[in-house]
Amino acid sequence: MSDKLATILQAARDHAEQVILPNVDAWNATKTWPRDASDKAGAVGLTGLYAPEEFGGQGLPLSEGIQVYEQLGLGDGAYAFALSMHNICTFAGCGYGTDAFKEKWARDLTSGRKLANFALTEPQSGSDATNMYSRAVINDDGTWTISGAKAWVSLATEADIYFTVVKTSNEPGHQDMAMIAIPADAPGLSFGPLYDTPS
Ligand SMILES: Cc1cc2nc3c(=O)[nH]c(=O)nc-3n(C[C@H](O)[C@H](O)[C@H](O)COP(=O)(O)OP(=O)(O)OC[C@H]3O[C@@H](n4cnc5c(N)ncnc54)[C@H](O)[C@@H]3O)c2cc1C
Repeated sequence: MSDKLATILQAARDHAEQVILPNVDAWNATKTWPRDASDKAGAVGLTGLYAPEEFGGQGLPLSEGIQVYEQLGLGDGAYAFALSMHNICTFAGCGYGTDAFKEKWARDLTSGRKLANFALTEPQSGSDATNMYSRAVINDDGTWTISGAKAWVSLATEADIYFTVVKTSNEPGHQDMAMIAIPADAPGLSFGPLYDTPS
């Protein structure tokens, strides 16, 4: 095991024991994401696990991230899951985003100052994402018009940006799928009620 991974795993273990475990019951009772806790996670490198170091990330391979979530999961599985989604979206944006995206978002995401989440599932499509209804059409000025509804989006209403999977045509299959990062304050974006997920 590399020294870097060992340090991050210890940080995740400490975070689980010192930040998550003493507070998770209170977080569940209020049904709000503990931003002060994820700020602390960011301060010890847990919000940029896979992103390259040039953007403030840790540059871990995806295969090592799972060990980090094992440690965080000793505190709370749902918290670990939410950070795993943030990390994978941050990896996608820092690796495959446009230069403009990286300039605006990369360091805020790797530091945890801003949180990302993933919106793939829809009310009628889960495992088979090709059944999604969401569509994105590019406009003459290079912006996108996106229509659709997502479901089961972890950190909905709490994240700052949603990595949203859409189709760009009505062709069957997956080859016209795109992932578009939609900031939480984008015009027209709205949120329904939270699901009740008893612990
Ligand atoms: C707590 C929680 C958090 C979530 N967070 C997110 C999130 O942040 N973003 C997001 O996009 N989604 C999220 N999801 C949604 C999750 O990814 C979906 O639940 C998942 O894609 C499965 O879809 P489904 O529930 O519609 O089940 P279905 O796709 O309807 O599957 C039902 C069952 O059939 C099985 N099955 C499906 N297809 C096959 C097949 N071809 N062969 C054999 N068996 C099959 C499945 O294994 C499952 O047991 C979350 C879900 C939960 C419960």
